[in-house]
Amino acid sequence: MTVVSEAFVKCKNVTLSSITMTDSDIFNQPYDILIAGGGNAALCAAITAARAGASVLVVEAAPKAMRGGNSRHTRNMRVAHDAGNDILTGPYPVDEYWDDLLRVTGGQTDEQLARLTLDRSKELWDWHQQQGVRFQPSLSGTLSLGRTNAFFLGGGKALLNALYLTAAALGVQVIYEAKVTDLNITEGVFHSAQVQKEGEVFPITAASFVAAAGGFEANIEWLSEYWGEAAQNFLIRGTPYNRGEVLRLLLNKQVQAIGDPKQCHAVAIDGRAPKFDGGIVTRLDCVPFGIVVNKHAERFYDEGEDFWPKRYAIWGRLVAMQPEQVAYAIIDARSVDLFMPSVYPPEQANTIEELAKKFTLDPQRLRTTVEAFNAACRPGTFDHTVHDECHTEGATPPKSHWARPIITPPFYGYPLRPGITFTYLGVKIDAEARIIMHDNKPSPNMFAAGEIMAGNVLGKGYLAGIGMTIGSIFGRIAGQGAAQAKHRPE
Ligand SMILES: Cc1cc2nc3c(=O)[nH]c(=O)nc-3n(C[C@H](O)[C@H](O)[C@H](O)COP(=O)(O)OP(=O)(O)OC[C@H]3O[C@@H](n4cnc5c(N)ncnc54)[C@H](O)[C@@H]3O)c2cc1C
Repeated sequence: MTVVSEAFVKCKNVTLSSITMTDSDIFNQPYDILIAGGGNAALCAAITAARAGASVLVVEAAPKAMRGGNSRHTRNMRVAHDAGNDILTGPYPVDEYWDDLLRVTGGQTDEQLARLTLDRSKELWDWHQQQGVRFQPSLSGTLSLGRTNAFFLGGGKALLNALYLTAAALGVQVIYEAKVTDLNITEGVFHSAQVQKEGEVFPITAASFVAAAGGFEANIEWLSEYWGEAAQNFLIRGTPYNRGEVLRLLLNKQVQAIGDPKQCHAVAIDGRAPKFDGGIVTRLDCVPFGIVVNKHAERFYDEGEDFWPKRYAIWGRLVAMQPEQVAYAIIDARSVDLFMPSVYPPEQANTIEELAKKFTLDPQRLRTTVEAFNAACRPGTFDHTVHDECHTEGATPPKSHWARPIITPPFYGYPLRPGITFTYLGVKIDAEARIIMHDNKPSPNMFAAGEIMAGNVLGKGYLAGIGMTIGSIFGRIAGQGAAQAKHRPE
């Protein structure tokens, strides 16, 4: 049973102050727009479409308490602005944003869509506040984003609560624990969708469709198509509901794909994190302060290559390429308080051999690796806030900065696993968020927003906070376009 909001009733000119609708009542209503997904992109689309006068049904796979996909794990959004304010510490011009995006993607971006995203990101500060979202200054330990990124007061969950409240007030209907399982599309035109809830299947007809159902990062079988057996050892940082069903349906129905299926955002997270939904707290920031070894107790990459905020996103992939997709970060007592505290306490031991045993590493091998590293460390003044002079000589791989011998007990260790944030394979769209078909023509009534199309802007790499920007911009464009879509099925 779903209680219809008073605002919905008012907006539909019903005189009762409150009526109760069953799920079948909701499914049996006619809608202008069907939206698959219940995260930030979906809600931005729903609110925009409802404000443009359209009736909207949002179909969210998760139960209400878990609604909002990966968006509920977020903390901030990267927005261009010409001047700082009481929250953002300085200006972040579009040109600088563009340079940052070019650097991380190596130019693998659709320039038109990327520039549109960055230009219009200026609007988001005001737009989100108009929908009830509030911002706060960045806290310490947040990868130095206080100038460029607007942090959500209360995090992604509070953002979503505000968006859902606004959507309800505008009459948007939301159905939870319901999945879009099929799409009826002919020659690029959407007619209806099949929605499954509690074993029952409901056909939904709507004039237009917005795909905002995320990537396929929670679908281990699908990840295995590109990563093989290694995918079994991946941990998924976000929602288990992003299984890519809608993406797959679209790709099977003459929609053009965008993005490398093997590309994903992956960071090194605590190996003890849950399989799904561990969120941001499972990330570990200890890597630059010690060494990282694989299951053979061997180092495999320069732990001090650059500042952690610039390099943290490569470590998920690095660990994914190690045997059994596992690694161990080893530090000593001098470093344990220098990074953001971990949610799981580190393993601790008075000798390197004892620590090795806790991770079932070969004690002698780990001792040899640590001693070789220690011997290669050149003396210098340690300063983790700059590219300091503490580096190794003669070690393979080298450690370029913050290299200090690991000699002060107790010794600490963390197990690391690849933590997949989201995948980049998506659907191709144009500047109106219209889905592009195999014949290169845009669909007249199918739109996409968020993770499911982020690969248009992010060919590779990642810029912290741009995921929510892409979802918000294209969510709004999709909502506007869907409300205006002329095509109506017979
Ligand atoms: C731990 C973590 C932290 C992050 N932090 C940030 C950050 O601070 N800033 C930032 O910009 N980005 C961040 N990201 C990335 C960000 O979460 C995404 O870019 C963004 O949330 C994408 O929004 P979306 O609406 O497209 O997808 P989502 O929010 O994931 O929503 C997808 C929705 O689709 C639903 N769904 C899936 N399949 C179906 C189906 N078949 N039928 C119906 N519904 C379906 C899901 O239940 C979900 O509600 C983070 C991601 C993670 C995992």
